[in-house]
Amino acid sequence: MTSQALRPQPHFPEQDTQPFWDATKRHELVYQTCNDCSNVIFFPSRHCTACGGANTTWNVSKGEGEVYTFSVVMQSRHPAFKDLGAYAVAYVDLDEGFRIMTNIVGVGNPIEEIQCGMRVKLVWEDQGDGQVSLPMFEPA
Ligand SMILES: [Zn+2]
Repeated sequence: MTSQALRPQPHFPEQDTQPFWDATKRHELVYQTCNDCSNVIFFPSRHCTACGGANTTWNVSKGEGEVYTFSVVMQSRHPAFKDLGAYAVAYVDLDEGFRIMTNIVGVGNPIEEIQCGMRVKLVWEDQGDGQVSLPMFEPA
């Protein structure tokens, strides 16, 4: 998937999410766990979303999971998306216990080839500016 215009990008420096974006450059999808209550934390956060503690650990996901739900975008006028044709925006549940909003790629017709519950695996889309890579998923 290539596009001339860049997708909307994070505004760096990103105080709370910088470790996440740095990891994308190594093609690592990272998430946090709480050292106090074992909660799985995603999106990246300064504090545990369950107990409020700041004692968290960064972990690398294996990048395997399943589609929780999805929607297919047929038209978009944003310059970064206008040439994509139909594309799928999805929530994927990773096996480690967190959910990410992402795209499902590597399918011909997203309406026919994606189902809720289907297994998917992580792939990376490198952005043209080299600042970040974006985690996406394709059928496993
Ligand atoms: Zn906690």
